[in-house]
Amino acid sequence: MLTDFLKGIVGPNGWTTDDVELEPHLTEWRDTWRGKTLMMVSPDCAEQVSAVVKACRETNTAIVPQGGNTGLCGGAIPDSSGEQVLLSLSRMNRIRTLEPLNHSIVVEAGCTLAAIQDASAAADRFFPLSLAAEGSCQIGGNLSTNAGGINVLRYGTARSQALGLEVVLADGSIWDGLRTLRKDTAGYDLKQIFIGSEGTLGIITAASLRLYPSIKNSRTALVSIDSPNRAVKLLSELRKELSDQIQAFELIPDRAIRYVARHIPGCRIPVEPTSPWYVLLESVNSFDDELFERLLMNCLESGLITDAVVAKSDSESEDLWRIRHAISEAQKKEGASLKHDVSVPVGAVGEFIQAAENAVTGYLPGIRMVAFGHVGDGNIHFNLSQPKDDDSVAFLARRQEIATVVYDVVATFGGSISAEHGVGQAKKDDLRKYKSETELTLMKTLKNALDPENLLNPGKVI
Ligand SMILES: Cc1cc2nc3c(=O)[nH]c(=O)nc-3n(C[C@H](O)[C@H](O)[C@H](O)COP(=O)(O)OP(=O)(O)OC[C@H]3O[C@@H](n4cnc5c(N)ncnc54)[C@H](O)[C@@H]3O)c2cc1C
Repeated sequence: MLTDFLKGIVGPNGWTTDDVELEPHLTEWRDTWRGKTLMMVSPDCAEQVSAVVKACRETNTAIVPQGGNTGLCGGAIPDSSGEQVLLSLSRMNRIRTLEPLNHSIVVEAGCTLAAIQDASAAADRFFPLSLAAEGSCQIGGNLSTNAGGINVLRYGTARSQALGLEVVLADGSIWDGLRTLRKDTAGYDLKQIFIGSEGTLGIITAASLRLYPSIKNSRTALVSIDSPNRAVKLLSELRKELSDQIQAFELIPDRAIRYVARHIPGCRIPVEPTSPWYVLLESVNSFDDELFERLLMNCLESGLITDAVVAKSDSESEDLWRIRHAISEAQKKEGASLKHDVSVPVGAVGEFIQAAENAVTGYLPGIRMVAFGHVGDGNIHFNLSQPKDDDSVAFLARRQEIATVVYDVVATFGGSISAEHGVGQAKKDDLRKYKSETELTLMKTLKNALDPENLLNPGKVI
């Protein structure tokens, strides 16, 4: 029997069929998807992953890879058949090597993002990928979703951090592509196929990653601003002087600030919520201590911004970031919400937000827009809270119609319906609508070539 065989591969600590233990692995953060599984296996090494894949292949059994299960598109949740094997990477959490002179680290897929940041800091190096779920999400999941987060503006997404990968393929073979080279044009760059493929093309078991010099100093500010258009202009102005020293640039609407003030105890809000929009920005590695303040002062005098609070210490900076990170939690307390992680060209952010707000309020009067996020990357979390006092179930039932209203606007700006969260189960049908036939055919060709029996995370992405 397959389950007995799998138990033998992963050993007594490497599997469970216990309902209580399985519960957190079969549902997810937003409680939108719930699945069942034949068994969860937690291999300890790439060879065990390989053996599990080979055994599942023999019996035509599908495998769903799972990292920290913080994904927001249902990609790591098995279907409801109870026949799929859930493969957790959590036990593969070793840091294999860290080479300070090469500015690189080789880690197993189950290392949490925070553990990689900490190990890098201990060696006086910086690993820049950072997102609110970093204590739980795993690097295998980050690479599989091509995660973004708050530092993309300066360092790029998870994809930009990968130097090499180790991947177990659908036939069970192990591809060791764990090179730590900066330059390598010897053939196709195969790692790119697996990054962002959400477990549908291979199972990432380890990664070699790019490190950077430690950050020497940083300045954080929360500025008040009249519109997203002005936020984009502010970014452009600041970049003239600060260039790539701007590490983060996050747009926050006043509604989000009010929600955080109302629902998140202990979150200090250092501004009067009288401005319609705010930008939380961070600049690093300045050689001139006063440049940041001087530039903000110039922007105040020119009227580009209307107020600015500059953090005077690390703890004040953390207080400002806490506001940003608390938005999703605070929005949950305002009733049902629908989330749309989209991107448009940076210069079009302001126009997009206005057009999308007009479209959704025209469709459902009273709907409350909370558009925030990584505006420096053109990535807006276009979230919508239900109209006050409306029925939340009825609101959620309109999920797909409302998404279509938003995505149609995204499409007119040449944007993407998934900026950083991936497709998973959530946007599979939408992908069909918004990608060209040629692109879809290419994706299917890749899937058929790498996983002809459709055993790796079937039903996700395509
Ligand atoms: C509070 C909160 C804030 C967030 N903020 C951000 C943000 O700012 N930016 C952002 O991009 N995302 C964000 N996310 C989403 C999420 O954290 C990321 O998508 C993250 O990269 C998922 O990692 P994970 O280990 O939890 O993956 P999981 O959720 O376990 O899996 C995600 C997908 O990857 C696949 N997968 C996982 N591990 C592997 C592997 N080793 N090999 C192959 N496939 C694998 C799964 O099958 C699934 O399809 C946030 C989530 C939360 C809850």
